[in-house]
Amino acid sequence: MDFEPLFPGHPHHLIIAGPCSAETEEQVLQTAKGLAGGRVHLFRAGIWKPRTRPDSFEGIGDEGLPWLKKVKEETGLRVTTEVANAQHVEKALKHDIDVLWIGARTTVSPFAVSEIAQALKGVDIPVMIKNPVNPDIKLWIGAIERFIKADIKKLAAIHRGFSFFGKSAFRNVPRWQIPIELMRSFPKLPVICDCSHICGRRDTLAGIAQTALDLNFKGLMMEVHPTPDEAWSDAAQQITPERFLEILDGLFFRNPTISDTAFLETLENLRHQIDDIDTEILRLLGDRMKITERIGEYKESNNIAILQPERWAAVLEYALSNGNRAGLTDQFILDLFKAIHQESINRQAKVMQSDEIAAE
Ligand code: PEP
Ligand code: MN
Repeated sequence: MDFEPLFPGHPHHLIIAGPCSAETEEQVLQTAKGLAGGRVHLFRAGIWKPRTRPDSFEGIGDEGLPWLKKVKEETGLRVTTEVANAQHVEKALKHDIDVLWIGARTTVSPFAVSEIAQALKGVDIPVMIKNPVNPDIKLWIGAIERFIKADIKKLAAIHRGFSFFGKSAFRNVPRWQIPIELMRSFPKLPVICDCSHICGRRDTLAGIAQTALDLNFKGLMMEVHPTPDEAWSDAAQQITPERFLEILDGLFFRNPTISDTAFLETLENLRHQIDDIDTEILRLLGDRMKITERIGEYKESNNIAILQPERWAAVLEYALSNGNRAGLTDQFILDLFKAIHQESINRQAKVMQSDEIAAE
């Protein structure tokens, strides 16, 4: 699937910044002026805010739309806001909003996404689609497909992390493998990282932004406010325009393509070595599973339970001490061996049950 650039002169790394919410005309303009000057390509501000709890500030609404127009006139910045239904789309289009984005609480709802996509049929405006709040890549892809079907060609995805239950250093856990999988499904779709909603705090923003750039994300979004502590929404994660520009200065923007032939050769060579090792790992895992199945047959003929806790503990202990010696972390060894062990159990269960079914 080919996508068109969001706008003419679309930079390789799209930088989006602005307040979580438009609060007052003065706050919006002050933030935009602090961000103007060429480093930021798109000014964000939420006009309609889908908040998790009912008594939070739910956005300034229609009154804020002319403020964004003023941002365009006074700073030359393009502007973007979140739309969650067809009326928002209509109003945003009437006020010359340059780019629309679909929020995480909207992406989860196929009816809402369809309504917005329908309202945009025949309209030439870029749309950025945030991941759904829950880690379900199919919902994310489904939303993207709904806009493709509505003939919207200027599309981008925004990764803003996923909800979870329990404690975490993140407000929304990044689960990087999900946006990476999205990049694999749509290789030409720009995927942008919304660092603010992943971090939920200021001190980890730069690190997450760098991780995103290292993972070949095609842009960054951050929430910026002139007086972050006084923000009406998401105060803990917002930063001043000055701090934002300082973070940008400290980041390494990786090259999108490689032209140096010596570098390319070295990289190719290393990649071949990895491919060879991967082939070997898979062959060995296949062999291991065949032995597992033989053990399954043996357990079945002796009527022994599949799971032998002492054996599993011994396998794990052996893997941890060997793995540590090979420079692998405990967490990685645990994750890997849990997956291997689960597959072994599945294989043995299949062997034992199919024998039983055959005997009936
Ligand atoms: C936002 O960008 O302010 C917002 C509400 O984000 P999300 O939809 O990612 O929660
Ligand atoms: Mn926010």
